[in-house]
Amino acid sequence: MATGWAGDGAVQDQIDATVKDGVSRAQNRLPSGPSLTHCAECGSEIPNARRCAIPGVRLCVTCQEVSDRSTVDAGGYNRRGSKDSQLR
Ligand SMILES: [Zn+2]
Repeated sequence: MATGWAGDGAVQDQIDATVKDGVSRAQNRLPSGPSLTHCAECGSEIPNARRCAIPGVRLCVTCQEVSDRSTVDAGGYNRRGSKDSQLR
């Protein structure tokens, strides 16, 4: 956690999330629709500032972080997407 990388306990979570996250990640990385007012994953409200910063955003910050970690651990499948992280 302190390093910013996933801790040991997150490994299994990432494995579990890999399959289902593929769908949401693809949706999240392709902002082709309107920004959601509530997270597609957990239903939490997405702040207006975040929706403005990331057109087509579908995930709250928490779910986005999970998605980002999974993307990185997948071997940089969509490394360019990491710029989204800096918009948080
Ligand atoms: Zn969420």
